[in-house]
Amino acid sequence: MAGFDQTLRPFLWRAERLYPDTEIVSRTHEGIQRYDYATYSDRTARLANALTDAGIETGDRVATVCWNHHRHFEAYFAVPSVGAQLHTINPLLPDEHVQYIVENAEDRLVFVDPSLVEKLESAYDPSTFESVAQFVVMGESVPDTDLEPITDYESFVGSHDADYEWPELSEDAAAGMCYTSGTTGRPKGVEYTQQMLWAHTMATLTPQGLDIDDTDVVMPVVPMFHVNAWGMPFSVTAAGAKHVYPGPSPDPEDLARLIEEEGVTFTAGVPTVWLGVLEYVQEHDVDISSLERIMVGGSAAPKSLIETFDQEYDVTMLHGWGMTELSPVGTISHLKPEMREWDRDSKYDQRGKQGLILPGLEFRVIDDDGEEVPWNGEDFGELHIRGPWVTDSYFGRDDANEADFDGSWLKTGDIVTVDSEGYLTIVDRTKDVIKSGGEWISSVDLENALMAHEAVVEATVIGVSHERWQERPVAFVVLSEAARDRAEPEAVKDELFELVRADYPKWWTPDDVLFIDEVPKTATGKFDKKVLRDQYDDPDLLEDAAPEDAAPEDA
Ligand code: AMP
Repeated sequence: MAGFDQTLRPFLWRAERLYPDTEIVSRTHEGIQRYDYATYSDRTARLANALTDAGIETGDRVATVCWNHHRHFEAYFAVPSVGAQLHTINPLLPDEHVQYIVENAEDRLVFVDPSLVEKLESAYDPSTFESVAQFVVMGESVPDTDLEPITDYESFVGSHDADYEWPELSEDAAAGMCYTSGTTGRPKGVEYTQQMLWAHTMATLTPQGLDIDDTDVVMPVVPMFHVNAWGMPFSVTAAGAKHVYPGPSPDPEDLARLIEEEGVTFTAGVPTVWLGVLEYVQEHDVDISSLERIMVGGSAAPKSLIETFDQEYDVTMLHGWGMTELSPVGTISHLKPEMREWDRDSKYDQRGKQGLILPGLEFRVIDDDGEEVPWNGEDFGELHIRGPWVTDSYFGRDDANEADFDGSWLKTGDIVTVDSEGYLTIVDRTKDVIKSGGEWISSVDLENALMAHEAVVEATVIGVSHERWQERPVAFVVLSEAARDRAEPEAVKDELFELVRADYPKWWTPDDVLFIDEVPKTATGKFDKKVLRDQYDDPDLLEDAAPEDAAPEDA
């Protein structure tokens, strides 16, 4: 029997004792901040005291609405290690989703970035935020705001002692929480226990995972507000490696400069980010020669991206797949030993797949008849997955729990093939959502918004492939007969764009609205989006290219 539970705290204890001088660098609203694990550990203990003094107790949820920086990283260890639950909130969500999430999670305290105070203010609603007793701005001062009571982080933490008696926690204690967008439009909460995050950390550290060690300088670009920044704040600490946090809405230049100036060896983010960085480094004089590997995932990585980084910059792109429900990493496309001798093209083909399951997880692929598909790279079915860092339920969502789980198996909603070597390839999604630049857009929400227009009889929205954002929403609308006789479609189109913009972030606005006579239906009368996808999944059919301001980071 183990004498001590699997919890996060020992990772920090080890980094503090073995690597006290290793740096943590952060681009913040106030400029570049730099300190070491010794100082980090000291500040984390002060934060733990501050949380306790603010009345945070075991099991309470503490929310963050923050970019990637050292203060957010301090919350990553302090909150779970006092026995509370770190609830990261995605600031790119529509206000009504943020309201739902805060109310559903009953957050007690909210950390918010200075540049996101306005966003939080816009989402703030006294009834859904009733549980929140304190707001803390992640900086040295408080901007002008109606949120209250509110203080700044440095005052909140500063007056507290660096001695903190960390409690002995159970590995079953809730440590984290993140909401994911669901088919129904309403976000679904996923809770992480100490043990889930511990197991995920250990698996991602291995060479079959992200292969991080103490020689690495790691820059997580994947947001800390979305799926734990792929667990990197924990795994990089466990390895005793140097952290580099790129701060509020980094652009390709910020990222390229941080790679050059801090000697980044490993970084991670969605394909859109790397397409932008690639364009920047190809056109500017910047030295990214320290960079050895990039983890790319969240959406399918184009093969050309993997190829270009490899050939022009000698950077290995590790294509991975994951989900909020998996803490989040599930697969990485490493080459098996014999494949390393293959010709270039075959190697890129293989690395372009979503890859091999991490050690510790199991999967099966189930077809429409409920049978497991053979590993032949052709037959496809829904991916089911289970393991120590895969959740077995959503928070308070019995409806979704019934639909999305089969015993210990999570039904991922991703349609995959498996080749004879066990490499997974995602070929489709059953989830009715669109992923643009790595962030979800709910097609159901958009459809409801469009159908509120008096001239609209039917409306449906699909994701169309896009070179930069991977997917962009396109709406298909059937107008009423009266409207068809009367209206000018262009005018209706503008009104529909306005309707969406009124309630949703502007990057949710469809790239185009196409007027059709009828939405294709399935045998049971449901909208058959597959028919539309087959017919229209061609970016050239669209009138407008995705506008520059369609970026999620622009929300
Ligand atoms: P999230 O929970 O927001 O991280 O989204 C998880 C979903 O993103 C998965 O179920 C997939 O549909 C999609 N996804 C994640 N990684 C990839 C990838 N490498 N290729 C294609 N889709 C991906």
